[in-house]
Amino acid sequence: MTDVIVLGAGVVGLTSAVRLLEAGARVTVTTADEPSATVSALAAAVWYPTHTEGGPRVLERARRTYDELSVQASGGVPGVVPRPTRMLLRGPAATPWWAAAVPDFTAVPGEWRFTVPSVEMEVYLRWLADRVTALGGTIVTRRIARLADLAGEAPVLVNATGLGARTLADDPAVHPARGQIVVVANPGLVTSVRDEDHPEGMTYIHPRSGDVVLGGTFQPDYWDTTPDPATGAAILRRCVGLVPELAGAAVLRHAAGLRPARHGGARIEVDPVPLPGGTRVVHNYGHGGAGITLAWGYADEVADLVGRITRPA
Ligand SMILES: Cc1cc2nc3c(=O)[nH]c(=O)nc-3n(C[C@H](O)[C@H](O)[C@H](O)COP(=O)(O)OP(=O)(O)OC[C@H]3O[C@@H](n4cnc5c(N)ncnc54)[C@H](O)[C@@H]3O)c2cc1C
Repeated sequence: MTDVIVLGAGVVGLTSAVRLLEAGARVTVTTADEPSATVSALAAAVWYPTHTEGGPRVLERARRTYDELSVQASGGVPGVVPRPTRMLLRGPAATPWWAAAVPDFTAVPGEWRFTVPSVEMEVYLRWLADRVTALGGTIVTRRIARLADLAGEAPVLVNATGLGARTLADDPAVHPARGQIVVVANPGLVTSVRDEDHPEGMTYIHPRSGDVVLGGTFQPDYWDTTPDPATGAAILRRCVGLVPELAGAAVLRHAAGLRPARHGGARIEVDPVPLPGGTRVVHNYGHGGAGITLAWGYADEVADLVGRITRPA
């Protein structure tokens, strides 16, 4: 017997499943793709609210995720480390709204400096999937055509399908924001560098244990996941310009992925219309370029929403 089906095994689905299992629910995760084949697996992935609206609710979710990932880093969860970061500024800049979630945020002339959790997603998604099964959950590989295909299989369905929600939830506000990256061997870097306003395009350099993720692009409504060679060359050029130690670093791979963006921001709410048979749907999708940055905060919110359905006051 399943209390909750979580549809989706990217970072949003798996963190939601972990929180629901910790709250005592019996959970089945259903996913079209292995976690390693999701957009989440491709992410850079550092805590940083890129292209995300601010506001108290998002700040709270971002702060919760920052705190959770920091605790996980201290506890030795694989793939999670605190990463010193330099954000280069091209002109005067007001303190960003998200600085309130970052304990060591400092502004110095020409840049912001701060430490944020950085996550190696292949390793971390494996850890999350293992955590789901260790807590008694099940992960099933199955692609569904409509949410109603799962009607009646559990009292609650959490829709964490990212870009898939465009059709599954019939939500035209969901759209891709393509991101292209280049992964190179790490010449010994430990500090992340970002230049969001680089005149030739957003630029970031995120060192990991054995490689460095270089980016990037943010291309709304581009659906093509084939890496473009000219874009890859331009990313390399910009990154070497900012961090000359990268010159000559071996290129390990080029990749592109589609961030699940949504006009109006992420959708986290109980659908007012139940599926046939009464299954209630809790949506958790549309996190755009900040899915890792917000995942644990929204997983807490999903667990609250599901609790209100299954244990009404
Ligand atoms: C290049 C790049 C860099 C990024 N860097 C960062 C970063 O530094 N920090 C950050 O916070 N975020 C970053 N992101 C964004 C981040 O990757 C996303 O916000 C996040 O991965 C979204 O997670 P998700 O679980 O919602 O979606 P996904 O990972 O796409 O997972 C969706 C899940 O739904 C399932 N699904 C979809 N349709 C169906 C269906 N019909 N039937 C069954 N299952 C279905 C899929 O199989 C999958 O399991 C980056 C993204 C890219 C592309």
